[in-house]
Amino acid sequence: MQTAASLIGLVGLVLSAVLPILIWRRPPMYRWVCPSCGYDRNLIGRLQCDRCERRMLESDQLEHLRARWRARDLLAIYCVSLTASTVGVLLMLKGLNKLPPEDATPDEVLQFFMQPEPVWTTYAFSNASLLLFAVTVAGSRFRWSIRDLGLCIRGQVRSTCIGAAAGAVVFLLSFLAATALGVERRDIFPYSPSDPLWALIIPSLAALGPLTGELFFRGMLHRMLRRRRSASRAMIISVTLYLFHMMGLPAPYTVAAIGILNTALFERYKSLTPGTAASAMFGVCAIVQSTVAGYQLV
Ligand SMILES: [Zn+2]
Repeated sequence: MQTAASLIGLVGLVLSAVLPILIWRRPPMYRWVCPSCGYDRNLIGRLQCDRCERRMLESDQLEHLRARWRARDLLAIYCVSLTASTVGVLLMLKGLNKLPPEDATPDEVLQFFMQPEPVWTTYAFSNASLLLFAVTVAGSRFRWSIRDLGLCIRGQVRSTCIGAAAGAVVFLLSFLAATALGVERRDIFPYSPSDPLWALIIPSLAALGPLTGELFFRGMLHRMLRRRRSASRAMIISVTLYLFHMMGLPAPYTVAAIGILNTALFERYKSLTPGTAASAMFGVCAIVQSTVAGYQLV
């Protein structure tokens, strides 16, 4: 097992170094957005909007430039962060001497990775690296503004409260559904309140996970898909990929519910804050439920 882990680590390191070069060879696609009609496909150098009469000096275009994410940009961010976090998790578990023994069967290895420690380490690492890569790549390679992500200041407090309330409602519904259907109890939370693993779980569930999910899966992926697709089609694709990202934690149907809720909030408010508040509230509810009941249900 140790040899296999070292091999995966090595391959991961090479991929992390090579993938960006392979995928980002071409420069990003810049367009200027017409301040009058909002048309966002005007080529650089064109002095008049393609759709309306608005003229634009070349020196003023800079302010209205907008980079357009393409699927391969997002794929690159995702793959690089995935390999980086896998390497990180394996190195950390190896360093702590917590990898399964070399002669472990595949079943035992699977069992091992379902335990609280590997589960939460993986969750924290994968979200942290996705957030890090998304922010640094977007910041260095694309000109973007707070408004690109729907983070304009107006109406934030109200939409955040609505998001948080919606997150609590979705948690309650998932909890009731799980109870009514007799879903198997999971215990991936530590039993003792003083367990050091909480130091990893609480910030991951209440802040890191929600921020990453909204920034990448709604702010970047869903926005990109929306350019050519209806809201419902874009939602099906982005929520499916979100499910893949959150695999194993928590139950898939609650991830789907949160994904659908957050996409609807994003479509309604054109902002990432209500969705972030909804996921954070969902995470806090899950923590409270698990500490009170001693097991996880949703
Ligand atoms: Zn125009």
